[in-house]
Amino acid sequence: MSKHFVINGTTIIPGQEVTLRLPVASLPSGNRIYIKGHIYRSLNPGPVMLALGGVHGDEINGIEIVRRAVEEEYFKNLQQGSVIAIPLLNIYGFINYSRDVPDGKDVNRSFPGSLDGSLAARVAFIVTKKILPLADFIIDFHTGGRNHYNYPQARFTKGDKASEELARLFGAPYILSNAPISHSLRKVAHEALKPLVVFEGGENQRYDGFSIEHGLKGLKRVMAAKGMIAEELAPARKVTVMRRSLWMRAPWSGMFRCHKPAGQRIVEGEPLGSINDPFGTERIRIYAPRNGHILGHTNAPVVNQGDALFHIGY
Ligand SMILES: [Zn+2]
Repeated sequence: MSKHFVINGTTIIPGQEVTLRLPVASLPSGNRIYIKGHIYRSLNPGPVMLALGGVHGDEINGIEIVRRAVEEEYFKNLQQGSVIAIPLLNIYGFINYSRDVPDGKDVNRSFPGSLDGSLAARVAFIVTKKILPLADFIIDFHTGGRNHYNYPQARFTKGDKASEELARLFGAPYILSNAPISHSLRKVAHEALKPLVVFEGGENQRYDGFSIEHGLKGLKRVMAAKGMIAEELAPARKVTVMRRSLWMRAPWSGMFRCHKPAGQRIVEGEPLGSINDPFGTERIRIYAPRNGHILGHTNAPVVNQGDALFHIGY
């Protein structure tokens, strides 16, 4: 870890705990928007963890996990190292109940960002420029999308041993490797050789206590394994590692009924759901294309042809 711990001109010395406000831009109303970050430094040198939530502003469970970890003082009195905790990065999305910033751009498709780019690029730039260089590893807390539920899962970058190791320490029920999306935080972190794990749990705009608990437990497990907290935590009991996944899409439009929830093992050929026309005349059954596990599924009652129904891991 670097001796010099400077964020936006503020030096944070070992043993200090501070809350910083990083200015982003103003709202059209003139109100200034700041990203609030909590920095905790132990007197003992050690790893620096970035716990980040709300890259997507409507992904409430991710925000709640980091918020609750701050509230419940997970990061106070660290045994060693430092923590940067940012519960809510995309304040614009949060106040607009949206994943994106107001122009529709996705912060997590705008990395590394730029100082004079779009609003999303500016938000991304703050992380890339001011926060990422200080961190040794990152846990990026997300939630499923609109109408899409994700069973608690930790995703790491395919072929990146250090991020796989971090995901295993985290120990979510499902651990999944995939390629990072271009211009995502994960891609930029991977290129900077900083292990990053994306946690996903629940559905946007909906508290999911089950996912929040898994997120908090994973965070604590990582901190214990890295010697940042004194608590000793056993590795997660039930972890299924998957290296591939596929999306099952609606073969027809209609009213969708899901017969098998996320988190379940599936066998090729078994019925997972059905699509009915609204007149009570036609029904199409959806069958499992292979053996695997349901990582996530749509909660939309009405679907169009091609809509994602199930995310299957194997
Ligand atoms: Zn997200």
